[in-house]
Amino acid sequence: MKPSIVILTGAGISAESGVKTFRDAGGLWEGHRVEEVATPEAFGRDAETVHRFYNQRRQQLLTVAPNAAHTALAKLERDYQGGVTLVTQNVDDLHERAGSKKILHMHGEILRKKCTWCDAKSDCRQDLDKTDRCDSCAREGGLRPDIVWFGEIPYHLEEIDQVLGDAQIFIGIGTSGHVYPAAGFVERARSNGTWCIEINKDQTALSTRFDDQRLGPASVEVPNLVTELLR
Ligand code: NAD
Ligand code: ZN
Repeated sequence: MKPSIVILTGAGISAESGVKTFRDAGGLWEGHRVEEVATPEAFGRDAETVHRFYNQRRQQLLTVAPNAAHTALAKLERDYQGGVTLVTQNVDDLHERAGSKKILHMHGEILRKKCTWCDAKSDCRQDLDKTDRCDSCAREGGLRPDIVWFGEIPYHLEEIDQVLGDAQIFIGIGTSGHVYPAAGFVERARSNGTWCIEINKDQTALSTRFDDQRLGPASVEVPNLVTELLR
């Protein structure tokens, strides 16, 4: 068996598909700080604005396609003779559309919704509105995107910690290293001697923590790395 791999992807892997990273817009959206639309407090205060923000992002997602980086990771999962776990901070479905099967969406998925009253979750391709009714409990006004907002606990943390503990190679792709706990994964991996590789178009806050740094667009660097790993 080859060394087991854990991959963490961030907004940068989807940038070349045309999905905006938060920082592309200077962390702002129509004059709102992102933290002001991506929190449970914002949803409580002004559900309409929060829905508008995510409705727009959901509709835009349906117009874009995976790029060569997503496709290469799907190939790695398919052809690599060892464990591959893909953890993503992205709420888009571009890894799925590229063919990846085992994906841990630690920040949720924009094409899913959940009910704040009964916690029921289901697929969501339509706009959400604050007057929508839940299919499960029939109560109104509680449907929200199934996204982990600032101040909420990410999904799959236990499983992620376990795979990081077992990994021999950790690869961080297109992530700025500003959002915790994901930003701490490289340290967790290093603590057991895991070889850490970073792919990013720029230096990041965490670049010095990686053993191998590959500067360049994900659509080029990820396929190159996958070719090496499959050799
Ligand atoms: P981020 O916006 O903080 O950082 C993006 C990183 O990607 C930067 O370091 C940038 O240099 C790099 N990058 C940009 N274009 C690249 C390219 N073509 N090739 C390689 N690297 C590139 O994103 P983050 O670290 O994922 O964290 C921000 C939070 O925003 C996350 O919690 C995430 O859930 C959320 N988010 C998700 C999406 C999405 O689902 N596609 C989009 C925006 C933000
Ligand atoms: Zn409900």
